[in-house]
Amino acid sequence: MQFRAVKGMNDILPGEIERWQQLEHSFIRLAKLYGYSEVRTPQLEPLALFQRSIGETTEVVEKQMFSLERGRETLALRPEGTASIVRAYVNHSLFAKQPVSRLFYLGPMFRAEQPQRGRYRQFHQAGCEIFGDPGPACDAELVDMLVLLFQNLGISNLSVEVNSLGDAQAKERYKDLLKAYLLPRAATLSEHARQRLQDNPLRILDSKDPADIEATAGAPSTLDALSDGDREHFNGLCAALDAMGTPYRVNTKLVRGLDYYTRTLFEISSDKGALGTQNALVGGGRYDGLVRELGGPDVPATGFAIGLERVLLAMPEAPQQRAASCYIAPIGEPALHEALRIGRELRARGIVAEVDGRGGSLKSMLRRANALGARLCLILGDEEVKSGSVKLKDLTEHTQTDAPRTQLIERVTQILAAEQNP
Ligand code: AMP
Repeated sequence: MQFRAVKGMNDILPGEIERWQQLEHSFIRLAKLYGYSEVRTPQLEPLALFQRSIGETTEVVEKQMFSLERGRETLALRPEGTASIVRAYVNHSLFAKQPVSRLFYLGPMFRAEQPQRGRYRQFHQAGCEIFGDPGPACDAELVDMLVLLFQNLGISNLSVEVNSLGDAQAKERYKDLLKAYLLPRAATLSEHARQRLQDNPLRILDSKDPADIEATAGAPSTLDALSDGDREHFNGLCAALDAMGTPYRVNTKLVRGLDYYTRTLFEISSDKGALGTQNALVGGGRYDGLVRELGGPDVPATGFAIGLERVLLAMPEAPQQRAASCYIAPIGEPALHEALRIGRELRARGIVAEVDGRGGSLKSMLRRANALGARLCLILGDEEVKSGSVKLKDLTEHTQTDAPRTQLIERVTQILAAEQNP
């Protein structure tokens, strides 16, 4: 009986995982440079957490949750990271420890979407969240950090879009404006959009249905409903981006699919990776009301979530890294035990080493060393163990020498150091 992975969920194998690790390391390094600390939360949460934060009438909660009953609890695999981070922030009273908290996370998320290139049922997000800073400068810094990250990863042709939804009242005013505009056009809307017209008209702006796109083409701008304070905040965002030289475009149709956003919204996409309409690499914005909504104090917050699969599709292919620098080929049991000790000594020096413990022929071991792309093959049999030496075969230079066991580690270190700094 053979099993297949669940639809829309992927195995990540050697050969691909190196690029994942490169991306994750770049993200973590940059997040730490900006003063963020990592938080890890469970992948299962109460379903109600997501209903309350993301919103009952959003695509994600309405159609895409992986939920399950366990005893009297209704749980869900997290569809995104922010709700869990806010729950943890409130549960552990992090607001009492520092006025401003900068947190980052990384991990799998789950949404039952129709799989296609760049869209999966299990996918991975890396995100940053700032709690306790209400100003637009930190929103601008989030955007600029993302541009820097993508540039470091070699992704070009970035399109940065920003918008403002205003505070909770402005959002309500805008919903009314949009409703008033769309009601006379209701007959031309898709059936789903007609339902949303009553309970959540903002979602109609996210619709990919051509009828909805046409009906909303001349809709009022979110900026029309802003209060003076919201406008000042948005101007502050644009001024800070200008000051840093961060390229961006204002898109007043950008509303994003989750209900918790207030004021700043942003999205960065790239035309690399043949992602088509799934080309948003990251989305984010401010969610000033969410901490209070989830039972905490009135703490403003802002953040983003990067879709790692999409970034990997947009990243240029990097040359494959050498898997093992040193392959150790022992012949016979005394040599195997010596090989295990040599392997441990090399790894203690930070050198990648693999011991062949299969007991096959020297020829088959050399074939494996070459297939792995190893620079050196260390060969030892009974004779070498007795005489206290090891045969050192350089697979790049095609040379072979005998090295005294006592000098072996030093010799290997020198050869590999010369390879790195020719
Ligand atoms: P969201 O949490 O919906 O704001 O999405 C943030 C980012 O996560 C998007 O810009 C995508 O890069 C990524 N993303 C969202 N849903 C999926 C999915 N089903 N498959 C792959 N990536 C996704």
